[in-house]
Amino acid sequence: TPILEIRDLHVKYGNVEALHGIGLTVNQGEIVTILGANGAGKSTTLRAISGLLKPSGGEIRFEGKPAHTVPAHERVKLGIAQSPEGRRVFGTLTVRENLMLGAFTRSDKAGIAESLAWAYRLFPVLEKRRDQLAGTLSGGEQQMLAIGRALMAKPRVLLLDEPSLGLAPLLVKAIFQAIREVNQTTGLTVLLVEQNARAALKLAHRGYVMEVGRMVLEDTAEALIADP
Ligand code: ADP
Ligand code: ADP
Repeated sequence: TPILEIRDLHVKYGNVEALHGIGLTVNQGEIVTILGANGAGKSTTLRAISGLLKPSGGEIRFEGKPAHTVPAHERVKLGIAQSPEGRRVFGTLTVRENLMLGAFTRSDKAGIAESLAWAYRLFPVLEKRRDQLAGTLSGGEQQMLAIGRALMAKPRVLLLDEPSLGLAPLLVKAIFQAIREVNQTTGLTVLLVEQNARAALKLAHRGYVMEVGRMVLEDTAEALIADP
């Protein structure tokens, strides 16, 4: 069974349909990217998956179960850039406090400590700054903190909304490398929305391309790179 499966999904804003019946499958352990121009419907797709928007038709399934039967904290959304609802970090809390907030639905103390160690290993700068207020971090560091916090929840699918937005290429590389490392080491499943197709296809195993509310292409990352 795929960990995430979308069938014929329709979403409307008011009377205007933004998704016209899209399909998408993500298997356990995969990194899948959704590419497409601004306005294509990528964020809308993530919002529907994370339960922030109610579909007007079609199905979203997690591990075969209808999404609305899955608790919200297991549908963890990470809207790093652009989407105000998933936004970033709490500036008046420390880095460590921000990370621990990500684990608020968990009670497995040892597991939480392990996740914290993971976050610090992936992003050493976060450990260095763990007692600093998050508001004093640079944009790139806040981005790392947002990803670290999402990982603290131990999501079954990590949803990333344009993690590269506005960041210097070196930082994008560091962040994507960290995502690959968690994927390879823990089998974390990742659904990544990106406008930066080149960076996303280097990281992803498979990709979808959206155009104005429709999926127009689905293939392996290698094939999509070869045929831009
Ligand atoms: P992308 O993430 O690919 O840039 P979006 O999912 O944000 O695309 O947008 C898809 C379409 O839905 C666009 O036409 C956009 O203007 C519209 N849209 C997005 N959010 C809203 C909203 N809150 N209300 C009305 N229309 C919206
Ligand atoms: P994104 O492409 O990620 O949706 P935008 O900058 O287009 O980012 O949108 C920022 C905010 O405005 C989002 O909350 C989005 O839902 C909302 N929005 C986007 N398009 C529209 C629209 N056509 N009508 C109303 N709200 C919109």
